[in-house]
Amino acid sequence: MKGKVPFRKRNQSLPLGPTVCENCTKCGICVDHCPAGALAINDSVQVNHELCIRCNSCVKRCSKKAIDFDERLHHVRQWLEDNCRIERKEPETFFIF
Ligand code: SF4
Ligand code: SF4
Repeated sequence: MKGKVPFRKRNQSLPLGPTVCENCTKCGICVDHCPAGALAINDSVQVNHELCIRCNSCVKRCSKKAIDFDERLHHVRQWLEDNCRIERKEPETFFIF
């Protein structure tokens, strides 16, 4: 269905991806589960910040808590929580006779 708002090309987003700390054991779990192919493992876990879609899959799956985003993303998340969270509306039922 055709929308009402004209198409606008999305601006390139800031390259932003997680960083890996020294707790990393190079198990490769995060690399295997990155949906964007943004992680690679050689001597250490390499993050391609251009490819990262910030899904947090790697952060959630790392049992060593060795990969995480820096404070900038946490600030954005907190701002969204504070300003854009809408309470869920329960469905209403109407009977028409
Ligand atoms: S899941 Fe954690 S410990 Fe394993 S390679 Fe990734 S960052 Fe390192
Ligand atoms: S946040 Fe998602 S896309 Fe980015 S590196 Fe982690 S798993 Fe890959």
